[in-house]
Amino acid sequence: MPKPRSYLVLENYIGGKFVSCGNHIDSYDPSTGEVYCKVPDSGKEEVEKYAAVAAAKEAFPDWSARSPQQRGDVLNKLADLIEANMEDLVQAESKDQGKTVTFARTVDIPRSAYNFRFFASSVLHHTTDCSQMDHMGCLNYTVRCPVGVAGLISPWNLPLYLLTWKIAPAIATGNTVVAKPSEMTSVTAWMMCKLLEEAGVPPGVVNVVFGTGQRAGDALVGHPDVPLISFTGSTATAQRITERSAPYCKKLSLELGGKNPAIIFADADLEQCVETTIRSSFSNQGEICLCTSRIYVERSIYSEFLEKFVAAARKWKTGAPSDPSNNNGALISKEHLEKVRSFVALAKSEGAVIHCGEGVDHLDLPEANKSGYFMPPTVISGIPDSSRVMQEEIFGPVTCVCPFDTEDEAVARGNGVRYGLSATVWSRDVGRVHRLAQRLQAGLVWTNCWLVRDLNLPFGGMKHSGVGREGGKDSYHFFTEVKSITIKH
Ligand code: NAD
Repeated sequence: MPKPRSYLVLENYIGGKFVSCGNHIDSYDPSTGEVYCKVPDSGKEEVEKYAAVAAAKEAFPDWSARSPQQRGDVLNKLADLIEANMEDLVQAESKDQGKTVTFARTVDIPRSAYNFRFFASSVLHHTTDCSQMDHMGCLNYTVRCPVGVAGLISPWNLPLYLLTWKIAPAIATGNTVVAKPSEMTSVTAWMMCKLLEEAGVPPGVVNVVFGTGQRAGDALVGHPDVPLISFTGSTATAQRITERSAPYCKKLSLELGGKNPAIIFADADLEQCVETTIRSSFSNQGEICLCTSRIYVERSIYSEFLEKFVAAARKWKTGAPSDPSNNNGALISKEHLEKVRSFVALAKSEGAVIHCGEGVDHLDLPEANKSGYFMPPTVISGIPDSSRVMQEEIFGPVTCVCPFDTEDEAVARGNGVRYGLSATVWSRDVGRVHRLAQRLQAGLVWTNCWLVRDLNLPFGGMKHSGVGREGGKDSYHFFTEVKSITIKH
């Protein structure tokens, strides 16, 4: 008789305790297409009845009364523990998400630890304003207070990285939290919960409720005792969250999708540009909100760029996530793979050229990965800006290359989408890069580089890419309420 399958079964973490849930959701290993984990299918009962929000409310007075230094010490200890458990977390993130072990080891998990370290330190260095009104005999000053119970909702592409980007500033500033990671990638959040007690996080300060957006996420967004929601995910979900939270006048931070352009001028350092634009287009299977998906190249170097770019894309290897020679692993799910492929089919039906990747290059996968959700880097040209392929977020290893003639045209076409998250400009002309940075409608503009981040600076998008900013001072402002106080002497 075949041995019954054993699954990893996750539990919610509420009030400092692991609490089992009656119903579960299947979670897949994207590199094999097999179910390997059961994630709690939490809903209103877990958020309300089993008291995740109540636990966070109860923990708030004590936690918020601690000094920033005392809270920072706890955050630093948590960072130490993440680093001590680095390899287990790396392997788990890769298995759960499909990304390569190398990417999880160099990006996801180190950054998760750093998020705690950064906010442990940054919270010590903020000051508030003071102004004198001597003619009125008054002194004015501001104070900042934590908001209360923060609801934190994160996506599946950078699971622990993006969840800790929210938990760290929320608790550093004295809030308590109820977090809901993506139901597709919950494992590393659950593993982090096992470290909280040892780090000295008091029960109830961090609660994690697992489940779908429709049930667990919705219960959190609609809970009257959660005055603040920090959300990272798609624009469509953000619209629902905005409507659902409107009756409660919640404070919202929305970090959403992108359709990010790279604008490449003839005077760019082409070698560096091709190498970086390959990374910016395909890293993490193209499943980063900041990935480049529209490449505009000045016509005089268009052919040369395209040839070099396609050759480099073919060298960007896709396969088993554990193989260190691979640059990309598997996409998150079968449905997502089908969606990404459908954009390539659409481009083809509209007369575009598919230079490499989907439908052109064969992936030679190991036997164990034959049912995984893999797709090679795909480069498209000859597609009009009006196509859905050029307008909608694909969120996979697909990018389109187009020629342009003038700076004004490049700016107009770069801005010609509903999104405004990031943009990349390649030129050695200092005046031009400053001009473009001013004119491009994007929350982040990189020149001659990509994904270089100083966490002190604001992060976020304009237009349909988001509302609000997070990062050093901006996270401090979002996770606190400011009060103006006037004293007459
Ligand atoms: P998604 O919107 O489907 O889900 C994100 C999270 O919201 C998940 O935890 C999900 O369970 C939850 N959710 C879904 N419906 C909900 C509802 N009605 N109420 C409350 N919560 C709900 O997004 P995704 O597919 O997980 O992630 C991919 C998207 O995230 C892409 O659009 C990508 O660009 C975006 N993203 C943006 C950033 C950024 O910083 N701007 C970073 C990473 C990803």
